[in-house]
Amino acid sequence: MKVQKCINCGTQFRYKSVQKSIWAGYKPIICFNCGAIHEFRFVYRLVVSVIIVLPIFFNQWISDIAPSLLVHAAMYFGYLLAAIGVMPYLIRYRLKNNNLE
Ligand SMILES: [Zn+2]
Repeated sequence: MKVQKCINCGTQFRYKSVQKSIWAGYKPIICFNCGAIHEFRFVYRLVVSVIIVLPIFFNQWISDIAPSLLVHAAMYFGYLLAAIGVMPYLIRYRLKNNNLE
């Protein structure tokens, strides 16, 4: 798994740039080499949302193995940290085409 490369020139995006882009509300990434603007693909917004709410669907199961609310919360927090950590490897951007807008 790798962070996406620039579609235009093939320069690898920085892990931190992708993290920043997500936290800034899915801001476009501008390639630092060629200046090509990459938009966050809409489907990946859904992917991010699903990843964050996923543990809610396993709530009952988590409660069974971790009855303490504190442990439960710690597990969810740990999951979130891991999920946020791998997100730059999962999400993809597309080249912004000004001619189509
Ligand atoms: Zn580039």
